[in-house]
Amino acid sequence: MTGVLWMIGGGSISGKTARHWHVSKEALRCDLCSHACRIVEGHRGRCGVRSNRAGELIASSYGLVSAVHLDPIEKKPLYPFHPATEVLSLGSVGCNMSCRHCQNWLISTAGLDMPRLETLTPKDVVQSCLRKGSAGIAWTYNEPTLWQEFVVDTSRLAREQGLFSVWVTNGYIQPEALDEVCECTDAMNVDVKGFTDNFYRDICGARLQPVLDTVERAHRNGLHLEITYLLIPTHNDGRDEISDFCDWAASIDRGMPVHFSRFHPDHLMMDVPPTPLSTLEMARDLARDSGMEFVYLGNVLVGNDTVCPSCGAVALERRGYRVTITGVSEGRCRRCGHDLRLVGL
Ligand code: SF4
Repeated sequence: MTGVLWMIGGGSISGKTARHWHVSKEALRCDLCSHACRIVEGHRGRCGVRSNRAGELIASSYGLVSAVHLDPIEKKPLYPFHPATEVLSLGSVGCNMSCRHCQNWLISTAGLDMPRLETLTPKDVVQSCLRKGSAGIAWTYNEPTLWQEFVVDTSRLAREQGLFSVWVTNGYIQPEALDEVCECTDAMNVDVKGFTDNFYRDICGARLQPVLDTVERAHRNGLHLEITYLLIPTHNDGRDEISDFCDWAASIDRGMPVHFSRFHPDHLMMDVPPTPLSTLEMARDLARDSGMEFVYLGNVLVGNDTVCPSCGAVALERRGYRVTITGVSEGRCRRCGHDLRLVGL
C-alpha cells in the first residue's frame, strides 16, 4: 500500500491507497461496503471518507481517530465475551448509513475536517492498549467498515501481541472485505436495525439483505456474534416483524445472544417517544419462543443477567456495566453444567 498525504479543509490528513476497489467505466467502483459507490475523479463516495484521487481509491480516514476511551466490554454490548473486562475503544468519522435515529451523529456525520482528529498508527494503538492493560481493542463509535484497512492492519498487529479485536458494526460490508476482517477479529456485535427492507430504505438509507448476509457469513467464519435490535416505537416494533427477526436469528444459532435495546429520542427522530418496557419484554418473549437461549434487554436496568437456559440459575449478574459472576464453573452453569458459551472466562 502507498502512503499519501492530502490537504483537506486547510489541514493535513493522512490516507492510504484503499484495498477494495476496481476501475469501472472511467471511474472507480468501491468494493468495500454494500453501496458499491461509483466514484469519478476528484469525488468521494457516499461515506465521505473514500476518494478517487488521480484514478486511485484513497482510504482518507486511515488512522484518523475521533474518540478513544477505555470502556467496559458490556457497553458494546458484548456480554458472554470476556465479561467484566475493559477494552480500548476507538472510532473515526463518517458512516455508510444515514439513520434518522443515530445516537453518535456528531461523529457519524462529521467529515475529515472535524476538529481535534488525532492521527495514530497501528503500532500506536497496540502500544496504548498494552500500556493501559486492556485485553483488546473495540472498533466502535462510528462504522468500522469505513476505515477497514486501518482496523485490519491494527487488529493483525494486536493479535500478534495476544490482544483480541471486536467490531460494533451495522454489517453493511461486502463479503471479501468481511472475510479479511474475520481473519483477524474475534467478536462482533451487529446492529440489525429492523427486519423490513422499507425500514432500512426509509430510516437508514440502506438495504436489509446485505446486513443479514454479513451476520450469516461472520457466523460461518467462526466469530463470536451478538445481535442488537433497537426497538423504535411505530417504526420497527411490530409483533410480526420482531417474530420474523427472532425466527431468522434462531435459524442461524440459538445460542447467539440477542439484545433488544430501548430507543431514546435523538438526532432527526426527536418526535418519537422512548420504547416502553412492555415492548422490550414482548420482544424477549418472542425470541425465547423462537428458541433463542440468551436474550437481553438494553438501555434499561432489568433483563441484563445471563441466565442458564437449561435450569434458570443466574450465572452472571449485571447492574449497569458492573458484572458479578455468580453461577459459573469452567464456563458452564454451576448448578446444572449447561454450556453457557462464555468466551475468555
Ligand atoms: S465504503 Fe461504501 S459508502 Fe464509502 S465509498 Fe465505499 S461503497 Fe461508497
